[in-house]
Amino acid sequence: MEFDAVFVGAGHNALAAAIHLASKGWSVGVFERDETAGGAIRTEEVTLPGFRHDIYATNLGLFAGSAFHTEYAGALAKHGLAYAPAEHCFASPTPSGRWFGVSKDLETTVARAAKLSETDAARWQSMLAEFGSDAPHLFALLGSPMTAKSLAKTGWKAWRGKGIGWMLDTARMLASSPREFLEANFESPEIRAAMAAWGMHLDFGPDVAGGALFPYLESMADQSFGMVVGQGGADTMIKAMVSLLTSLGGTVRTGADVVEIRKGSGRADTIVLAGGEEIRARKAVIAGVMPKALVSSLLTDGTGNASFDASARKFRHGPGTMMVHLAMSDLPDWAAGEELKQFLYIHLAPDLDMMGRAYSQALAGDLPAEPVIVVGQQSGIDPTRAPEGKHTLWVQVRALPAEIRGDAAGTIKARDWKTAAEPYADRVIEIIERYAPGTKAKILGRYVESPADLERRNPNLVGGDSAGGSHHLSQNFLFRPVPGWARYRTPVDNLYMVGAATWPGGGAGAGSGFMLAKMLAGG
Ligand SMILES: Cc1cc2nc3c(=O)[nH]c(=O)nc-3n(C[C@H](O)[C@H](O)[C@H](O)COP(=O)(O)OP(=O)(O)OC[C@H]3O[C@@H](n4cnc5c(N)ncnc54)[C@H](O)[C@@H]3O)c2cc1C
Repeated sequence: MEFDAVFVGAGHNALAAAIHLASKGWSVGVFERDETAGGAIRTEEVTLPGFRHDIYATNLGLFAGSAFHTEYAGALAKHGLAYAPAEHCFASPTPSGRWFGVSKDLETTVARAAKLSETDAARWQSMLAEFGSDAPHLFALLGSPMTAKSLAKTGWKAWRGKGIGWMLDTARMLASSPREFLEANFESPEIRAAMAAWGMHLDFGPDVAGGALFPYLESMADQSFGMVVGQGGADTMIKAMVSLLTSLGGTVRTGADVVEIRKGSGRADTIVLAGGEEIRARKAVIAGVMPKALVSSLLTDGTGNASFDASARKFRHGPGTMMVHLAMSDLPDWAAGEELKQFLYIHLAPDLDMMGRAYSQALAGDLPAEPVIVVGQQSGIDPTRAPEGKHTLWVQVRALPAEIRGDAAGTIKARDWKTAAEPYADRVIEIIERYAPGTKAKILGRYVESPADLERRNPNLVGGDSAGGSHHLSQNFLFRPVPGWARYRTPVDNLYMVGAATWPGGGAGAGSGFMLAKMLAGG
């Protein structure tokens, strides 16, 4: 079997790249070890029949707003892609009952902010107005390949459009921690907490430099556009991509574990499947795997470039994630108010200090006494997720150690995830119960995946790292995945990397797949 381009793994970035290459006339073959394509984007009935849970990613806003989507929206819709919009995006209640939440309707959000601080309500509006003119430049940066030429072009446009003062302010924001940025802009602890929680979705505790960008972008983008989930499940996106790719002549083979990449003629030209089958690549082998797996496992003797291989082996991962999926007789009754039932995301992360504690406990190897909990109420927005009148809850737990050295609360004695997962899920549910009394009694079924389970199901989620490698400044932008190799190439001719480990990083935005495919296809 022979293709122009052969892909290792069917994550959404690989699928996006394969679609673009196939539409430019390349023959493409995508080989995936799991029984279904999609990697960290999948929907399964893991609790009870009829309850459709997004096992990992659920917020498809990055995808819906991506350059790839802009080009292929019509074709993907024909192949079944459909969204369910969320007007009420995210909210953070506090134990005192005070809360802040962002709804797409600006007046609603501003009225909530004004109850906490009139000054902050005004700042929210002015920040949103600035976002309108800043966003094109910021998104241009995030959507540009990390080359000197692209950066110079993006910088030149920003300088002409916004001036040097704006560029300096933006550079300062990009270098700021969430706390520095939020304390400089808002006085309400509730507003600060609601925004800072987004940093915890990546590996940005409130005091980590470079962490301000995502809380700012997600908050302003949600205020401007609302959020979206997949209609019927996040897998609507993957099914549509696979169907479109197949219609373009591409091949997607699941249950195909790639165990080796060969570079027979000095360039990558063959992949080998478990069982020995060889697949030939005429122009490109594209590996959607983590850097360490590429150089230590798939290439038997590395790339031949000692510095690249050493950096790839040292690629850093962020702290782990646990997922708790619940089938529910009803949504939680949030003590802070009935209104919270309408929101897609409820962050149980009431202040920056507790986020900082959870983050540093996880980094030290301890089970956090109180982790950050993200409760997704997808079925409130998309009732097809559960049998009539019933609901799903998507609970993401941040941040957790890959290897457990201790328990900051001192009650869980287990030191491996096999035995610690269920007791820790109990702790998570007790915390939800505190914010929404009566929740436990509504649980009909429960399914838990620990950080170790995440990695077992998808080897790219190393130690349960949901974002495909740390996004700290030392491993982002020009340094992602490895300094000097930010443009998807590797030291081996015809061998490329794609996916969350590469620029622009984790999330369902298909950025690396689309940029790589455009580079290979010449546009
Ligand atoms: C719990 C969780 C929640 C998340 N929530 C969101 C969210 O709400 N919104 C958002 O935008 N992002 C979210 N993310 C992040 C986002 O889902 C990922 O960053 C993104 O899906 C990664 O895509 P990828 O293309 O890099 O590949 P992946 O999705 O990692 O897929 C890689 C694929 O390659 C396969 N593979 C690996 N090695 C081999 C091999 N040797 N042979 C064959 N196949 C192989 C794997 O099995 C896998 O299917 C979340 C992630 C997690 C884990």
